[in-house]
Amino acid sequence: MIDFQQVSKIYPGGQMALEEVNFHLQKGEMAFLTGHSGAGKSTLLKLITVIERATTGRVAINGHDIAKISSKHVPYLRRNIGMIFQNHHLLMDRSVFDNVALPLVIEGFSHGEIRKRVAGALDMVGLYGKERHNPIMLSGGEQQRVGIARAIVNKPPLLLADEPTGNLDPKLSMDILRLFETFNDAGTSVLIATHDLGLIARMKYRTFTLKQGRMLGAQELHHGHATA
Ligand code: ADP
Ligand code: ADP
Repeated sequence: MIDFQQVSKIYPGGQMALEEVNFHLQKGEMAFLTGHSGAGKSTLLKLITVIERATTGRVAINGHDIAKISSKHVPYLRRNIGMIFQNHHLLMDRSVFDNVALPLVIEGFSHGEIRKRVAGALDMVGLYGKERHNPIMLSGGEQQRVGIARAIVNKPPLLLADEPTGNLDPKLSMDILRLFETFNDAGTSVLIATHDLGLIARMKYRTFTLKQGRMLGAQELHHGHATA
């Protein structure tokens, strides 16, 4: 699904954010990406969504080399990727419905189809019946679920999350990870960037660790002991 070969990213100004990174996420796999602040996690995600482009090396999504795609094709690529942020980037002056519907409106779905899909997405994240609420009226955990509903509403094959539990307590964080697990069970590939090692240690997924831009490799984590 995602394949990095010898990928380096040097920002204008000279900062080496990623150095000869090799990384492979299989189709249908769920995995964690970890490392200290500044290690390069966000940069790696930005290369996948072509917010940034690699300086050298090859980034491929589903076998397509995305380093070479034209700017015109970037929106088509992004439609296949659900993106979830720590601060969820919700429109606070719009209803929950409007926020979740946004990707479908952009894609030009019919009104009836949009209603059906938004209801389905809100049902999946446990927010059924909150369509008319404003995000400001919701708790932090519920706001994160609105962001997740928006990310999955057009059923992308790949979900990327950048510190999705950063503002949540351990119980809510685990609930969010369980939610990612249900999407993964349905066949969605999931990559979660986080520095919360305690959370990772409680789950059985592969963990990729970045250290100062270098990939330390994947580790299988078992219940009870973290190895990062
Ligand atoms: P993380 O997500 O692990 O905290 P980042 O990918 O955000 O790490 O950052 C990796 C390195 O690249 C850091 O040293 C950071 O300061 C630098 N960096 C990130 N974005 C930019 C940018 N737009 N311009 C210059 N340097 C950047
Ligand atoms: P914040 O907005 O406080 O920086 P977020 O967790 O909301 O933190 O976002 C993490 C980073 O990802 C931000 O620097 C944001 O600009 C960046 N970002 C925005 N859009 C994308 C995208 N499509 N793919 C990858 N990174 C993105």
